[in-house]
Amino acid sequence: MHHFNRRNFLKSAGAIAAFAAIPRAVSAAVTSPRVVVVGGGFGGATLAKYLRMWGGNVQVTLVDPNPTHISCILSNLVVTGAMSMSRITLAYDSLKTRHGVSVLQGKALSIDPAGNRLTVETGTGNQVLDYDHLVLSPGIDFTPAPGNWNPNLTPHAWQAGAQTTLLKSQLAAMRANDTFVLTVPKSPYRCPPGPYERACLIADYLRVKGRTGAKVIVLDANASIQAEPEAFTRAFTVTHAGRIQYVPNANVLSVDSATRSISTSAMNISNAKVLNYIPNQRAGAIAASLGVNLLGFVAVNPLSYATLAHPNIHVIGDSCAVPASDGKAVPKSGHMANAQAKVCADAILRTLSGEVLDQNVATNSACYSPITARTASWLSANFIYGDIYDGNGAVKGKGMHRVDLGEAPSSGVDGDSYQDMLTWADSFFSDSFK
Ligand SMILES: Cc1cc2nc3c(=O)[nH]c(=O)nc-3n(C[C@H](O)[C@H](O)[C@H](O)COP(=O)(O)OP(=O)(O)OC[C@H]3O[C@@H](n4cnc5c(N)ncnc54)[C@H](O)[C@@H]3O)c2cc1C
Repeated sequence: MHHFNRRNFLKSAGAIAAFAAIPRAVSAAVTSPRVVVVGGGFGGATLAKYLRMWGGNVQVTLVDPNPTHISCILSNLVVTGAMSMSRITLAYDSLKTRHGVSVLQGKALSIDPAGNRLTVETGTGNQVLDYDHLVLSPGIDFTPAPGNWNPNLTPHAWQAGAQTTLLKSQLAAMRANDTFVLTVPKSPYRCPPGPYERACLIADYLRVKGRTGAKVIVLDANASIQAEPEAFTRAFTVTHAGRIQYVPNANVLSVDSATRSISTSAMNISNAKVLNYIPNQRAGAIAASLGVNLLGFVAVNPLSYATLAHPNIHVIGDSCAVPASDGKAVPKSGHMANAQAKVCADAILRTLSGEVLDQNVATNSACYSPITARTASWLSANFIYGDIYDGNGAVKGKGMHRVDLGEAPSSGVDGDSYQDMLTWADSFFSDSFK
């Protein structure tokens, strides 16, 4: 049996890149098919790059409102000042010059599925793009907050950029005995370990800066810790004992940004020094316009990421919902978005060439979680396409079957994992954007 240790885990991240070297040519029957990709984050950038690498004559246009992408991955380290913003700012230059992707700075406004057209708002007016296939990877949007929430006063920092800088400056202004309140959204949400990781890093920052009596209160809308429960329970109760208070079942009832107050089903807090409200999440608006499931995400076929209604419109990354055999959907992570992008690129090229879809698709996810400024834990999850079951063991359809490869999550929190995190991030950023 293949033993999945950390070294193999890093190798498997590298193996994704090796798979990328397979060249493909789209059949001559289709001349220069056009693929439009909405969203230049981890899903969209990877998709655009791999379509060009594998697709020969496929024309790829990538649409994003921003001139660069600022990564959420590692952004908690920017909040604590351990890393610079430039380290997580990813440019589109290589996609353009090395891979021949056309990058259009603009915001996708609406889709005309019958006419295969996308309308994009740009600095010089609206443009209409014709496509043979459209791929949407717009990440997440937030569900409306109860009460009076103003993210410019009480940031979420769950999309990186100005929000990251704002939270960083609010943290820097904390003094002894101040309180930092952080909410964990109801699952499913972007990056399951992310909020717990942030709580740990903030607590560590307060300790290192000597902010005696200052603490982090984690208001979790879920009944328990959603990822790496052993590592985070230990971090909350041992490593950061006395500096983190974890409160489960805290459904948010009302938020008031002016007074930095929050009311939940488990606890009410008034006048926190910092209120880091991370709202519940749903598919990005342009993807949601195609219709969403009960949890707010877009159902897709995991062999092609095509939407169920439109075979040539695909949704990948955080916006899509893929059922998994553990009863949940596959996790929303950048690594997963990157893996889905490759499956989607291959499926589009097969469809354009009149080939059948690959039935043996596999995807995986990896998240490293810094626990202090020098240590980290990690978690990986691996999936192959197959039957998924209901609670009684009966097959309820096809989806991604979770495969246990052992040794994940990490057995400990250590400095090696912290270094591996930086190596992994470099190789991952480069696989998606370079
Ligand atoms: C604190 C934190 C830590 C994380 N750590 C990890 C980690 O260790 N490992 C990991 O794998 N993942 C991690 N993640 C999760 C990861 O960032 C996301 O899962 C990933 O970014 C999802 O990729 P995506 O392509 O779906 O969305 P994104 O990467 O967010 O990209 C979406 C893009 O779409 C664009 N867009 C949106 N709407 C439109 C529109 N209408 N028109 C044009 N463009 C549009 C946006 O500008 C954006 O550039 C972390 C997240 C957070 C918040």
